[in-house]
Amino acid sequence: MAHPHPKSRRVELPGEWPGTITMTPDGRLRIYLGRGHGAANSAGWTWLGRFLAWASTGVRLPTEIHVHHMDNDHLNIREENRMHLHRSEHSRLHAATRTRNEKGQFAVEEAE
Ligand SMILES: [Zn+2]
Repeated sequence: MAHPHPKSRRVELPGEWPGTITMTPDGRLRIYLGRGHGAANSAGWTWLGRFLAWASTGVRLPTEIHVHHMDNDHLNIREENRMHLHRSEHSRLHAATRTRNEKGQFAVEEAE
């Protein structure tokens, strides 16, 4: 199976899922759906929050729309904790609270 992050580890979540869920080193969850799945990228993966949006609406979120976890806990996947934001608003939101790494650089947040 294609694996997007070598250091990701598999996690088990309660409930039925259509594919393997992994956590990236920075604590975000992805799901492997397989190539050709309506919610997946060309490698067959998507962020779990994006999968959940697709599962509830049947429509894939546009790439410029991000899923923000309001309590900043990516394991808290309840609908009331997930907010859909334009990527520019999402960047603004995190700019105020982003943390620096051990080199003093701002931690990079990948698009979700
Ligand atoms: Zn966010």
